[in-house]
Amino acid sequence: MNHFNYKNNRMFCEDVAVAEIAEAVNTPFYLYSNATLTRHFQAFDQAFKLPHITCFATKSCSNIAILHGFAELGGGADIVSGGELFRALKAGVDPRKIVYSGVGKTREELRYGLKENILLFNVESVQELRAIQEEAAVMGIKAPVSFRVNPDVDPRTHAYISTGMAKNKFGIPIDQALDVYQQADKMVNIEVLGVSCHIGSQLTDVSPFVESLGKVKQFINRLKQAGIKIKYLDLGGGLGICYQDETPPEPAEYAKAIAREMAGLSCTLILEPGRVIVGNAGILVTKVLYTKAGGKKFIIVDAGMNDLARPSLYDAFHAVQAVEERGRGTEVADVVGPICESGDFLSRGREVPCCEQGDLLALMSSGAYGFTMSSNYNSRPRVCEVLVNGSEFYIIRQRETRDDLIRGEKIPDFQGVVRE
Ligand SMILES: *Cc1c(COP(=O)(O)O)cnc(C)c1O
Repeated sequence: MNHFNYKNNRMFCEDVAVAEIAEAVNTPFYLYSNATLTRHFQAFDQAFKLPHITCFATKSCSNIAILHGFAELGGGADIVSGGELFRALKAGVDPRKIVYSGVGKTREELRYGLKENILLFNVESVQELRAIQEEAAVMGIKAPVSFRVNPDVDPRTHAYISTGMAKNKFGIPIDQALDVYQQADKMVNIEVLGVSCHIGSQLTDVSPFVESLGKVKQFINRLKQAGIKIKYLDLGGGLGICYQDETPPEPAEYAKAIAREMAGLSCTLILEPGRVIVGNAGILVTKVLYTKAGGKKFIIVDAGMNDLARPSLYDAFHAVQAVEERGRGTEVADVVGPICESGDFLSRGREVPCCEQGDLLALMSSGAYGFTMSSNYNSRPRVCEVLVNGSEFYIIRQRETRDDLIRGEKIPDFQGVVRE
């Protein structure tokens, strides 16, 4: 359920016509619905009756306005870099609701998280554990630690977004983890608080979640026998959404399956949903520049793979919809961007609306891993982000300028001066 609907053949985001926003901010742009964001966050968060913290996965959509919205609803943040910690703090997320995941935290990032007194570090290796012990010792504090275990469960999703199989780089193999917990338990500046796992993204079935939770539960019992008590159980994110015809479980069904498996454990649950909250709450709006018929049919638009990488990166599907339905029907065509790469497509070989120059198209379900994966490739300024609330819209990130493109660059003296 989202708030992108047609009224009299015009696409609206809540009560604002998408074409009107395009007129005001130019194209391309990302557009989010505040009502959808709120609804999705609450549907997820309220599905869990057990003590829990919903730590939104910042990397999926990291604009500070969006993070602030979730913080106001009681949410925390799952972060994977110092940059995301900075964003979360700027957005007013309570540091006691911030968990820090990722295999490659630098010393400086560890210190930053310690200084800000975040809730938990999800540690992913023994070397990282030693680094955090050293940094905490220098600061004279105890570092709150959870270990990310790798349960070796197949999430049955795209290989690039599978993270909980033995062949993936993430976490500590669950059968070697007891030894690591025992080492950590003896360290003076480490406070062992939790177990975490995150097996992948865009899961459309609850069974891999249940399977991995089952393994983690057994592991927590082994820890208990070894005298190590666990306060937090972090199940990661990964719940999928409908892009096309997938039928992922509703948050309520997911929560119920987890609650059943949690019986007998008295941990506080940490959840790190990303895509399921923001995926269908955002679209990318783009304009048709040219069309090419003759051989294969191409629709050339002003957004490219630098703006929305998922089709090129994962061969991901995003539905293409007309912002103004003109009753011209549909045809099979490739929707491509201006980037000098053959991999620069937004939709390939699919039925799309018949277009003419100047038409506006919406790439649906682009709220997650859309703007956050965008780049300046081909020296294209990153697009603006707009948030609709009821009948108003707000620019929550300005379109980058050409000056932004060269910010920080410098021609060294030995090259002589630029003659203009
Ligand atoms: C990416 C990620 C998430 C969010 O995944 P979604 O599929 O967007 O829910 C949660 N936790 C960790 C550790 C991640 O890396």
